[in-house]
Amino acid sequence: MLKLSAIYRYSKRLGLIGIIFLFGGWGFFGHQRINRLAVFTLPPEMIGFYKKNIGYITEASVNPDKRRFSVVDEAARHYIDIDHYGDSALYTLPRYWNDAVTKMTEDTLKAYGVLPWHINRMYYSLKNAFLIRDTERILKLSAELGHYIGDAHVPLHTTENYNGQITGQEGIHAFWESRLPELFSDEYNFFTGRAQYIPNPQLAAWKAIEGSHLAVDSVLMEEKKLAASFGEHRYSFETKGRQTLKVYSREYALAYHKILQGMVARRMRAAIKLTADFWYTAWIDAGQPDLSELIFYAPSQDELKLRRKELEEQNAAPEIRTRAHEI
Ligand SMILES: [Zn+2]
Repeated sequence: MLKLSAIYRYSKRLGLIGIIFLFGGWGFFGHQRINRLAVFTLPPEMIGFYKKNIGYITEASVNPDKRRFSVVDEAARHYIDIDHYGDSALYTLPRYWNDAVTKMTEDTLKAYGVLPWHINRMYYSLKNAFLIRDTERILKLSAELGHYIGDAHVPLHTTENYNGQITGQEGIHAFWESRLPELFSDEYNFFTGRAQYIPNPQLAAWKAIEGSHLAVDSVLMEEKKLAASFGEHRYSFETKGRQTLKVYSREYALAYHKILQGMVARRMRAAIKLTADFWYTAWIDAGQPDLSELIFYAPSQDELKLRRKELEEQNAAPEIRTRAHEI
């Protein structure tokens, strides 16, 4: 496992520090867009409440990434290294947490990521929040569930070679999940249709992981080929504030984006759809509580104080060393 300081040194050497540390998951931009767009696919009984709180749902989508340096178990919730468990692991890994713990032990699961199981846990928490009509928790859990579902749709969140570090492609993680959507997602078609009921949330989470993992080879191999033809031309310099950053050039990003033939858009669209499906399913399974009663909710002074405290903690200096995976 890479140590943070080692990653820092390494990225500095590459000159990629800006790219690597500015973003997380789909990048702040991507996660926010996924949550925001999911709201618009909800049925009439839900959309009013979610629209009213769309600012929070959008902004809080990135909170899980922010706290991964301050909460011990957080980092492992953002990925699963499927290939660590062998070639056919995608199909043989136990789908349910208890079975997986029995087979692999909890320590092993936590070492190689718990993303699909954590999504299911979040679904239950959200359902419970709906059951007791706890507005604060409904909002918090909806926003954060969208984050983890977003991560599950990123191919490089499902492999040990998460940043191309095994194949000499360091930097590909943020390139695929942050740089490409930032440059091109305005052109994506995000039409997903209405949110639908999910008969089995745990298996639905796994299906997202499967889709991501099956794309890992293309993500890595196509970039490797392209890198060979571009050589050093794949980088350029951009200024952000007072910093000059070495980034993947626009030409290179465009070429890679074309070769992937809409993959980034498809994964992002699927993330939007599944996020809305999970919100909808939790609401249905909680007996379809009347959200119009909650619509005039305004955070109390205590709640605002708590949110501020959470933010401060998240923004504090990193205390927990983690690896580049979820960055
Ligand atoms: Zn994440």
